[in-house]
This record gives sequence, structure tokens and C-alpha cells, in this order.
Amino acid sequence: MEKVVIVGTGCAGLTAALYTARANLKPLVLTGRQPGGLLTTTSTVENFPGFPEGVDGCELVTRMQKQAERFGARVQFGTLEAANVKETPIHLTIDGEIVKTETLIIATGASHKHLGVPGEHELENKGVTYCATCDGALPMFRNQPLVVVGGGDSACEEALYLTRFGSMVYLVHRRDSLRASRIMAERTISHPKITPVWDSAVTEVLDVKQDKVTSVRVKNLKTNAESMIACAGLFVAIGHVPSTDLFKGVIDMDESGYIIPKKGPVTNVPGVFVAGDCSDRVYRQAITAAGMGCAAAIDCERFLGAEDK
Ligand code: NAP
Repeated sequence: MEKVVIVGTGCAGLTAALYTARANLKPLVLTGRQPGGLLTTTSTVENFPGFPEGVDGCELVTRMQKQAERFGARVQFGTLEAANVKETPIHLTIDGEIVKTETLIIATGASHKHLGVPGEHELENKGVTYCATCDGALPMFRNQPLVVVGGGDSACEEALYLTRFGSMVYLVHRRDSLRASRIMAERTISHPKITPVWDSAVTEVLDVKQDKVTSVRVKNLKTNAESMIACAGLFVAIGHVPSTDLFKGVIDMDESGYIIPKKGPVTNVPGVFVAGDCSDRVYRQAITAAGMGCAAAIDCERFLGAEDK
């Protein structure tokens, strides 16, 4: 029987692991399919306090994991397949095995949103990607025109990163101004290798017949005019969907799947806590996720303390 199981090893999960480990609760921490979470897919993190020169996303989560393990957290490569949180103790199915736990911290994060246009799915990993830092340096993208879709910090970060490899980066955004933070937006717009394509949407990815990306069809949303942009890669950076499907119908969540806590990290189910991007549609920063992980761990510890009395 576990005292605490934490699902997710992004900033939220690993901070919860650190705090519960230091409280001597020996948390079992599941990596899920993306160990380290989405931060491992970004390049330099410039806004995590304590790193004046910035820090590589992978390095940051690796350090967090080591810190948590130093105090007794057990990080296990595994995926949660089912959760019966209404039972006492909570029953989890982890890679086919049943694990019982007194408490659960959900820190499952979020995954990349897809455009849902023809050719996108068929050409995934054949020129369509959701992570420039993971794939941008591949030979197929070198010295080729590339397209990024989105107007947030992620899209700007991807576009800037891709200027190292592509001959030109087209940033296709559905409005005429960027949602990204001012510093990122200014850096992006002023970059000589980035061409913004405003008020526009990618409506098709070609060429499925050739089994690789050769161009995208773009529609101007104001004029309805269609055009083609020749490119070797399409990088989709249009936000995220929370990874909460397993808890639907049991844990309170909004229509998009973001978990709605009752108070702080406390969910509607006793003994179940939440932290990070799976319950945050507003801030979604590494530092806010870490803070939420800390709060979830403290409330979890208090819950277990009250149970013991
Ligand atoms: P985001 O801020 O939600 O931006 C998503 C962008 O995609 C928006 O510009 C949105 O357009 C567009 N979009 C959404 N759905 C679309 C669709 N179906 N078709 C076309 N365009 C679509 O997401 P994000 O950029 O991934 O950022 C998420 C959070 O992480 C933010 O809080 C951000 O500040 C943070 N972040 C920070 C950094 C950094 O500080 N270095 C880096 C990456 C991310 P509209 O603008 O029209 O809604």
C-alpha cells in the first residue's frame, strides 16, 4: 500500500515528489509516456527564477528529479491506465498491475493540440511536428522553407528556434497580432528570417501522395483568398489539451478537461489532489506548476496527518 502516488514528472509532479519525499512519505512517481513533461520539449527556459543565464528544459526537470530522489521519491517509468479514486484505498492500474494508495496527486500536464486539417495526421513525423526543439534539426528541414502555426509564446519560440535551420520561417496566425509575451513577440516579428502571415489559417497539408510535406494550403480569414506556401515542415504550436481523460466523470473538470479543484489543489474526491497544467488554463508556466505541486504535496501531507489522528 502506497501513501502517495504522483502521476506525472513535469515541474508540478516532481515538486510534489520533492515535498512529499521530504515529509518522509516515500512517494511513488509515475513518468507517464512523456517523462519530464512538456518542458523537455522546449529549448532554454529563461524565466525560471534562479537561472540568470537560462536553463535547458531537460536539465531543469532532470535536476528536479534528482533532488526528489535524494529524499526518497521513487520515480518509476510507467503509465496509469485506470484509476478508481472513489474506492478507499484508491485503486490504480499501472501497466497492468493494481497499486493501492491512500492519496493521489494528479500532475498529468497537457499534450499538444492538433489542427485537425486534411493531411496533418497522415504526414505526422513526415514533416508535420508539434515540437521544433525535438525535430527542428532533422536533415529534412535544413535550408528549407518552414511553416509554424500559432501566435503564442510557443509558436514564437518555435519560429525563432527554426531560424537556425530553415531558409525562411513563415509564421501563420489566425489574427493580426500575437498573443505571445511582448519580448517574444518583438524578437519574432523583427527577425529577418521570419515572415508573419496574418489573419490566416492552414487548411490542408500536402502532399500525402508523396508521403512528405511539400506545401501547405493557407486561407486568409478576412478575404477568404487561398494560397500555397511551399515548405518542408509544418510546426503546429497552437496550445495544449489537458491530459485528464482517465478522470472524466469522477473528478470535477471544465468543458475542455481542465480539472477544477474545490480549493487550492484539493479536488472533489477526498485524498485526490491536483497540480500543474492539467488544472491551469491561465498561467501554465514552469514556475506556477512547481508552486502548485508544492501546494498539492503540503495538502496531501496534512490530509494523511489528519487521517492518522
Ligand atoms: P497559447 O498561449 O494558448 O497560444 C496558442 C496560440 O495558438 C494562440 O495564438 C491561438 O490563437 C492559436 N490557436 C489556438 N487554437 C488554434 C487553432 N485551432 N488554429 C489556429 N490557431 C490556434 O499556447 P502556448 O503558446 O503553447 O503557450 C501556453 C503557455 O505557456 C502560455 O502561458 C505561455 O506564456 C507559456 N509559454 C511560455 C514560454 C516562455 O516564456 N518562454 C514558452 C512557451 C510557452 P489566438 O491568439 O487567436 O487565440
